[in-house]
Amino acid sequence: MRLSKIKLAGFKSFVDPTTFEMRSNLTAIVGPNGCGKSNTIDAVRWVMGESSAKHLRGASMEDVIFNGSSSRKKVGQASIELVFDNSDGSLGGEYAQYSEISTKRQISRDGQSKYFLNGSRCRRRDITDIFLGTGLGPRSYAIIEQGMISRLIDAKPEELRVYIEEAAGISKYKERRRETENRIRATRDNLDRLTDLQEEID
Ligand code: ATP
Repeated sequence: MRLSKIKLAGFKSFVDPTTFEMRSNLTAIVGPNGCGKSNTIDAVRWVMGESSAKHLRGASMEDVIFNGSSSRKKVGQASIELVFDNSDGSLGGEYAQYSEISTKRQISRDGQSKYFLNGSRCRRRDITDIFLGTGLGPRSYAIIEQGMISRLIDAKPEELRVYIEEAAGISKYKERRRETENRIRATRDNLDRLTDLQEEID
């Protein structure tokens, strides 16, 4: 699976619809300071479900929407679409049948995010699920930002473990376990409540 296109519109400095085509396995984005190189990486992280504005170098999530400039008015919505080439079928399971996989996120000024998978509305979880265990993801090791190497060198063993678990493909199952444990806890609470009600009726 290879990231083949990034489509940006209304996102940070990319007010006009812009498409980056990655035609080979090695692509470099170069340009002067402030031209939007880091914004492109923020965009990739954002589509994959990043929910912390701070990790996208903003104060609130609406800061990802183009906020106007001396010559342009601000816009009401931002959207990013990532297109992955899956012709090698490396993203298996139910996605193996698709030679191209598109994930898209939109946000409007009311702060509401919408996610789309191959054009159909989906949950954030559906997107994060696809990438868990692949090394890609909003905070995964596939995105090495400034300062990350020194953070890795200084990391405590339990922080390093998170990266190793992602590389080993374990994080997906740990996440499933966490969700299941939450569901069990909620079901237990409901059962307790039911028992209370039953005792009151008896
Ligand atoms: P450097 O080489 O200095 O790291 P860069 O190419 O990585 O720069 P970015 O950090 O991607 O640059 O882009 C910064 C630019 O994006 C700034 O000019 C900033 O004003 C603009 N920008 C960021 N958020 C928004 C927004 N919401 N609306 C409009 N412009 C924005």
